[in-house]
Amino acid sequence: MKINYIEIAEHYLSKIVTSNYYLQSNPVKEIELLYPGFKALLNKLRFNFPVQFAYTETYRSNTLQKQYYSQGLSKIKTNGMHHYGIAADLIFIIDGQRTYKGPFDKLHTAYESVGGPDLGSLENWDAGHLQFIPVVEQNRLREEVNAAVLRFQRKQGLKIDGIIGPNTIAAAKKFYS
Ligand SMILES: [Zn+2]
Repeated sequence: MKINYIEIAEHYLSKIVTSNYYLQSNPVKEIELLYPGFKALLNKLRFNFPVQFAYTETYRSNTLQKQYYSQGLSKIKTNGMHHYGIAADLIFIIDGQRTYKGPFDKLHTAYESVGGPDLGSLENWDAGHLQFIPVVEQNRLREEVNAAVLRFQRKQGLKIDGIIGPNTIAAAKKFYS
């Protein structure tokens, strides 16, 4: 599958940075902030997978990511894949009950068969986690997003520092509304 990194970065700026969820520290379970290509992949997976599942977390703010990091729940301090709207954590629903005792091994095979990337070793320590891009491309995406933020700041006459502070958020809300 061809991945359009610039489009993911554009989605981040236009839909996520401008969202009311952007800074909030509660886990988001809705799929509305997810990148459309990823959402489509998850829907395909849901259609093809014999076991029902629900999302425990989709988008994640950097505030919450830092909390997870300090609690040892995540190895990433900021800008994880959840933050860009291209990751989701799943729990199975079996006999009407939410459970982590389900076919995670089959989940990843099914995800790949509908077009998702091979998530490699990530499957072992974060079994319910699915993401849109391969792990080796994560830094490429971060660079692409950073470049998009700098371009936006330059165009908008803001301080060009790559930091998404109040001024950049306000400008994005205005520009993309
Ligand atoms: Zn995750």
